[in-house]
Amino acid sequence: MKPELLINLAYIVAFILFILGLKMLGRQSSARRGNAISSLGMLLAVVVTLLDHHVVNYTWIMVGLGLGTAIGVVCARVVKMTSMPEMVALLNGFGGLASLLVGWAEYGKIRHLGWSAYLDSFAGTPAFTSAAIFLAVFIGGVTFTGSIYAFCKLAELVSGRPVLFRSQQLVNALLGFVLFAAGLVFVVTGQPDLALIAFSAFLAVSLILGWTLVMPIGGGDMPVVISMLNSLSGLAACAAGFVIANNVLVVAGCPVGTSGLILTAVMCKAMNRSLSHVLFSGFGAVPAASSAGGAGADGGASAITGELKPISPEDVFSVLEAARQVVIIPGYGMAVSQAQHVVRELSKRLENNGAEVRFAIHPVAGRMPGHMNVLLAEANVPYEQLVEMDAINPLMPHMDVAIVIGANDVVNPAAANDRASPIYGMPIIKAHEARTVICLKRGKGAGFSGLENQLFLLPNTRMLYGDAKATLQAVSAEFKNLASG
Ligand code: NAP
Repeated sequence: MKPELLINLAYIVAFILFILGLKMLGRQSSARRGNAISSLGMLLAVVVTLLDHHVVNYTWIMVGLGLGTAIGVVCARVVKMTSMPEMVALLNGFGGLASLLVGWAEYGKIRHLGWSAYLDSFAGTPAFTSAAIFLAVFIGGVTFTGSIYAFCKLAELVSGRPVLFRSQQLVNALLGFVLFAAGLVFVVTGQPDLALIAFSAFLAVSLILGWTLVMPIGGGDMPVVISMLNSLSGLAACAAGFVIANNVLVVAGCPVGTSGLILTAVMCKAMNRSLSHVLFSGFGAVPAASSAGGAGADGGASAITGELKPISPEDVFSVLEAARQVVIIPGYGMAVSQAQHVVRELSKRLENNGAEVRFAIHPVAGRMPGHMNVLLAEANVPYEQLVEMDAINPLMPHMDVAIVIGANDVVNPAAANDRASPIYGMPIIKAHEARTVICLKRGKGAGFSGLENQLFLLPNTRMLYGDAKATLQAVSAEFKNLASG
């Protein structure tokens, strides 16, 4: 059998392993195995590529392998679960940079050898290879600087607020125009010097554009941006695959591109916002219109009336002691206070007391997809206890108590009831339909959207103020006293 055929067969096996692994990542019970199977696919692809006769210098490959493995092991051990969005942003960025470097290196080879000598070793035409180089460099460059900026925002190395300036979109449109014009010249020109100028132009502009496109997007929207950049890193890898005629790179880039796009769409849908609103509206630049005490500054949101009714941990204990159906609704505040372990402890105490406990999970609770699932899994909350929003909402009127732990926007009834609210139409967990609602938060802080929340003022709601971990510990201690006394 020809070596080329063998290599391609091995690539097909590697790709099947990727897909199987991806499928298994969809369930918590099979996720670890899925990860291992995908890694095996990647190992196979790497080993087979190293056996390919195109690969001539193993020294640099060994250096890269050693360095990459060392960095990967350190990251896996050191990076906290809550820092995963930053980590993913960096990895996307490096994926983009790798594609950019592949495109750049191949262009260097072409300049050195000339087209005819270069094309002796690769099938293709100058126009096709140039177009692939343009795409790998342009998408890779935008992905690289965009991801680095997203990382800086999430790591709070720069302000998380959107940075807006006059004619920003015009500037971005002009940069986009220069980028594509340079790309077109690069592909069609036969003149090496003109091609070099065009290459330098689109390389520089793509790096600038990645930065300026992410600038007007607020830190809270970074997970959506990161998922989109993830998709772009896949497309860049795909383009790089065409540049060096490597089938596995082309094929592996596709699922990354599409799955990133699907995740972006799912997140936008769950927030009831369009992708263009996320990318261009500067959401979060100024606090969103508060509707407290009258119509919001947007001129429409309905007046919020009622009063906040504080409750002590001892009284919360009394309410919970009598409850038989309890739903816990975690949100971003649970992540901030790292209360997941105490939440788990309290849920066990409730169960020992005869209550049925469920965890209601909103798809965009927290600040990254699956944020709540990850935290609760870390605290060993059984997966069967997690109930998705659509499944829990019909059960809400039967719940004796809903405990809202640092969630705000995802339980804001305005999204369901108030047509004038900026978040109207965003699906929510209907905590307000439970018989009693206990909301844990530190004070009057608004959620990500900056809106006030009528839920906190409803007659059946009580506010348990303080850091969620501390207040939950106090409630749990009451149950402990009951058990020991
Ligand atoms: P949220 O609306 O951001 O509200 C979080 C609440 O937690 C705040 O009102 C805050 O009030 C409270 N809090 C903060 N620290 C706390 C602590 N230590 N102890 C107790 N409470 C604390 O959170 P959410 O309901 O989870 O909603 C998520 C929001 O993020 C949505 O608007 C969603 O669209 C957006 N978003 C999510 C994603 C994603 O992938 N998950 C991506 C992009 C955007 P106090 O300050 O008064 O304590």
